[in-house]
Amino acid sequence: MVGGIASGRDAPPAVLDRDWVLIELTIIGTSAGAPTRHRNVTSLAVQFGQRRDWWMIDCGEGTQHRLLHESHLKSPRLSRILITHAHVDHCFGLPGLLASRSLSGSATGPLNIHGPPEVGAWLASLDTTIGMRLDYEVRFHPVLAPGVVVEDGGVVVHSVKADHWGEAWCYRIDEPTRPGSLDTVALAALGVPAGPVRGAIARGETVTLSDGRVVDGAALLGPERPGASLVFSGDTMGPNAALTELARDADLLVHEATYHHDLADIARDHRHATSRQAAEVARDAGVLRLVITHASARYERPDGSIDPSLLADARTIFPETVQAHDGLRFTI
Ligand SMILES: [Zn+2]
Ligand SMILES: [Zn+2]
Repeated sequence: MVGGIASGRDAPPAVLDRDWVLIELTIIGTSAGAPTRHRNVTSLAVQFGQRRDWWMIDCGEGTQHRLLHESHLKSPRLSRILITHAHVDHCFGLPGLLASRSLSGSATGPLNIHGPPEVGAWLASLDTTIGMRLDYEVRFHPVLAPGVVVEDGGVVVHSVKADHWGEAWCYRIDEPTRPGSLDTVALAALGVPAGPVRGAIARGETVTLSDGRVVDGAALLGPERPGASLVFSGDTMGPNAALTELARDADLLVHEATYHHDLADIARDHRHATSRQAAEVARDAGVLRLVITHASARYERPDGSIDPSLLADARTIFPETVQAHDGLRFTI
């Protein structure tokens, strides 16, 4: 992992286990408008610690090719895609990705896609215009108003309007609250063997051991752990007050920062944000960490890195900021 952050505001436990890792985020593409030699256009992947499927946010053209470099992201296990808006750098990768997922022959479940209605109309037209056939079901769910977009296995997605062109959305993904950590030292002192009894105690149940002792599992659990939370701005003019509220106390905010603040006028005219405005949203929302992405090609240096002035400007306002690059991964 390139970066890792703790869910909640306490220090992470000394030993990280799979149960503690709630969300793994992979930034698949970071370029704005069009791809560059080093960066593809926008897409993010979200994996959950307790689930085999994974979700995608936005799918710019060429996303399926970038996925070939991310061996932990297999398209047959992709179950849900959230599209922020109908600009080409955020959704034109869908037809190719959908077709290749079908060609793989191993996609089983349906693929749920959420986004502005025009994205659904466009996808539906692929059947009648180019005869695209898929061997699995695509279910399109139009996002029509701010509020709950998805409830799936305890994971909830909320949306607010982005301040961009046409119908454009920002999304927040929240994992459910988890039971507290098991006090393994106390458990060892009781001499409880590994197995179903130990599992029942970890779920907070009261069990009777083989020697007749009664163990109250709830007494061996720490306080409930808040679920991880991830917010993505999509493209938006900044600072966006609705997005600031959506991101309140989130673990991680991924916010577009197309421009340096020197070009704030151009950013406003194009309905995009500067890195400083992204940092203002992160600060005002009280998030733990900010990732800035969607940098204009004008800031890309010959080695593919982004001019450090964008990050430096953001860090004067919100120090816990990271500049995204394609392939960047975070554990929440
Ligand atoms: Zn864009
Ligand atoms: Zn856009």
